[in-house]
Amino acid sequence: MNVRPPESPPLSILMYHQIGRYPRPDAHRALFCHIDRFRSQLRYLKFAGFKVLSLEEARRCLFEGEPLPKRSVVITVDDGYDDFREFAWPALKEYDCPATVFLVSSLIGKAADWLTDRPELPKLMDGAAIRELHREGAHFGSHAMTHPRLSKLSPEAQREEIFGSKAALEDLLGAAVPDFCYPYGDYDQRSRDLVEEAGYRTGLTCIRGSANTSHNPFELTRKAISYGDNLVGFGWKVHFKHERKG
Ligand SMILES: [Zn+2]
Repeated sequence: MNVRPPESPPLSILMYHQIGRYPRPDAHRALFCHIDRFRSQLRYLKFAGFKVLSLEEARRCLFEGEPLPKRSVVITVDDGYDDFREFAWPALKEYDCPATVFLVSSLIGKAADWLTDRPELPKLMDGAAIRELHREGAHFGSHAMTHPRLSKLSPEAQREEIFGSKAALEDLLGAAVPDFCYPYGDYDQRSRDLVEEAGYRTGLTCIRGSANTSHNPFELTRKAISYGDNLVGFGWKVHFKHERKG
């Protein structure tokens, strides 16, 4: 299904979670990025001549034979934390970079209640903020209804999470929601097939690797940007093609 020739340039789908003024975390470093670093990463992408693609552009380059720019990345942000509105989005607008944020449809305007090991649960964006950012050009995808481990659910519950979140978000945005991201990167053959059946065009995993090494549009590989990634580490992740790990 992947029609890209193996020698095609690397396309990296970058994965972020919370972006803001965070001190160095003791754990879960891949879930945080300091806004100053995020800004310097966007500046670097411009400086080094990277094209920041939307997920739809990337899908067409990867699977429909559209020309893949020599240097390109996609920016994805999981969970829809309220810090996106305050920190990441103004920076993305300033550098004119598209990005897709994956929302947990039943927890919009609430807290990230699946992060049970946190002393304080981070707040998630509310519907008014999401609609406003959507008007300004931000892309939104589904991260299911309740952030479950899909492979642990019954077939009926999986279907509800995948179809129900699409309907709820399309209702909120008044627009199609073509992208799905598996919470925890957890999925099985059934979830993958349901994502396709629901009418999504992509499914994003946490499998590490350049997106060129994805087997199909419903199992896209990504690269997590961690709190500790300085520009050297970031450059290594975006310049080189990495084989699929997992
Ligand atoms: Zn998540």
